[in-house]
Amino acid sequence: MSVSSVYFKMICNKGIIIFIKAYICTVKTEEKKRLMAAGELLPVMEYFYTIQGEGKYSGAAAYFIRLGGCDVGCHWCDVKESWEMEKHPLTSIRELVNQIDDTVEIVVITGGEPLLWNLELLTSLLQERNIRTHIETSGSSKVTGSWDWFCLSPKKRKMPMEKAYQMANELKMVIFNKADFKFAEREAEKVSEDCLLYLQVEWDRRSKMLAPIVEYVKNNPKWRISVQTHKYLDIP
Ligand code: SF4
Repeated sequence: MSVSSVYFKMICNKGIIIFIKAYICTVKTEEKKRLMAAGELLPVMEYFYTIQGEGKYSGAAAYFIRLGGCDVGCHWCDVKESWEMEKHPLTSIRELVNQIDDTVEIVVITGGEPLLWNLELLTSLLQERNIRTHIETSGSSKVTGSWDWFCLSPKKRKMPMEKAYQMANELKMVIFNKADFKFAEREAEKVSEDCLLYLQVEWDRRSKMLAPIVEYVKNNPKWRISVQTHKYLDIP
């Protein structure tokens, strides 16, 4: 065999290996996409057992699952590191639920924007174990999953979908400036009558905006103040 034909054969072999590798990679990517669409694999940023700091269940022990990915982009967001879903490992939801201790009564699914993902499987696995399913969401993507408590926190940059208003058990409006009171009132008109209404100061604005919120709630007692107690307690 001449040197040039050996060289030609090597090139061909290399080409075949590259082709096979690319094919396996495509199959793996397709399989990953399928598992994500089924809610079997989700990008999980973190999970931890702590105390719920906000809203109606403030003070209750709760296990948090924070999913990666958010397409809303609030400028004051305090979990910007959650935005890029690629940064967070795709995790088997069955394995994640299996390792939750039997003492846990409430699991809170948060993000990022958790409704970017199919949450049917996650919530059904939790409810099979008699664990309450709570969500914290902007409501801006299609609602999936079966929820025992639905905390809706609308954001002006990407407004909630109709179903999210119908599902809301509590409406949590983050107050950054005085214009947000008007936004809060407009959103309160869209939820059901028994939905709890909360105003929550944006954490970095608390020295400026807490007093106006207190005054606002005194004058408009249908609202309650939601305090981020976990931040005062210095727990996750
Ligand atoms: S929706 Fe939530 S996670 Fe997304 S940018 Fe706004 S505050 Fe951050």
